[in-house]
Amino acid sequence: MSTLRDEAQDHLSTAVDLRRRLHEWPEVGNQLPITRDTVLESLQGLPLDITLHTTTSGFGAMLTGDKPGPTILLRGDMDALPMPEDTGLDFASRVPNTMHACGHDTHTAMLVGAAKMLSGRRSELAGRVLFMFQPGEEGHHGARHMLGEGLLDVPSLADGTPSPVTGAFAMHITSALPAGMVSVKGGSLMASSDHLLITVHGRGGHASEPHRALDPIPVACEIVTAMQTMVTRSIDVFDPTIITVGRISAGTTNNVIPENAQIEGTIRAVSENTRNKVHAAVQRVAEGIAAAHDVSVTVEVTLGYPVTSNHNGFTAFATAVAGDVIGAERVFQMPHPVMGAEDFSYVLEAVPGTMMFLGGTHPDRNPGTAPPNHSNRVTFDEGAMVNGMAIYTAVAMRHLDGTVAAAP
Ligand SMILES: [Zn+2]
Ligand SMILES: [Zn+2]
Repeated sequence: MSTLRDEAQDHLSTAVDLRRRLHEWPEVGNQLPITRDTVLESLQGLPLDITLHTTTSGFGAMLTGDKPGPTILLRGDMDALPMPEDTGLDFASRVPNTMHACGHDTHTAMLVGAAKMLSGRRSELAGRVLFMFQPGEEGHHGARHMLGEGLLDVPSLADGTPSPVTGAFAMHITSALPAGMVSVKGGSLMASSDHLLITVHGRGGHASEPHRALDPIPVACEIVTAMQTMVTRSIDVFDPTIITVGRISAGTTNNVIPENAQIEGTIRAVSENTRNKVHAAVQRVAEGIAAAHDVSVTVEVTLGYPVTSNHNGFTAFATAVAGDVIGAERVFQMPHPVMGAEDFSYVLEAVPGTMMFLGGTHPDRNPGTAPPNHSNRVTFDEGAMVNGMAIYTAVAMRHLDGTVAAAP
């Protein structure tokens, strides 16, 4: 397996070139025409069947091995964030207010590198590899759009043998882990992320005569604090949730009672059970407090990404493979999930698989204090892509040859 790392090392300079090109010309959302063209160009000459999606800039690239077998999906996301870049890098973004601050440029470059490595090993492949190049991970449901367009409805092999997608694998670079290490856990890896909007409907009036109005402001304040009490009193601390109110707004001046107040926030959970419980509880708390003060309330929860849930069997397999490739001492078992969210969760709802974190902190920096993903100053050690490319390749090959089968 260490030869895979040597091979990946040979692909590093082209991966760095591609990553820097993507970094200079980032795009946001589900339409990434420049990015897609750049990636397609870098895949030219490889024996891939490419399916361009039409609702987004996503595409699937299928590599068919010389031997029959199932299909494994490897995913790389391609989108950037709407924010300024202040890294001072030579290859910093040339697009105003657009930055690859989540490292998706490295994911795309690693996936292209893995496509090259696996194409070179086509004769050994017992099955197929579906490379998923997806847009819109940063809140735009890019993966869901690709699944909706039939990404997983793969055709049979040329001789008619079915070759369904039996596993899925993705890596996410992080500046919270030293370069080249990986961290992972089975079960819940990342949180669900839902949007909360509560509107308190009162009745406006003169600030000196609150009894003739229905003041929505104290009611809104009470709802905010009551939600935090609800979290600590009703939710199992070992199956946690976070409700953060990021915006509360009402009123225009000091001597007017406004008609409405608004509360906007995010709800995170690491199990669908807690997620559903919290949705119901938020509704109950807001309506109960509103009723107590004779105002009405509208609670709108807009569903975001589901919980990212790693399949236990596949995770044990991928952990073992990563250990073989980079050394078991470089593979960390995470003690708990992180409360960020990921739309690879949609893929993991449909196929057993795993997302793993890949360390990207420069060796001379402290992962605890280095600018984090989504910071305008975040940078990644590009050398980490060697381990990433090697692990993508090894997971695909070994899933297909069945030497370490994913437990059901
Ligand atoms: Zn991100
Ligand atoms: Zn990301």
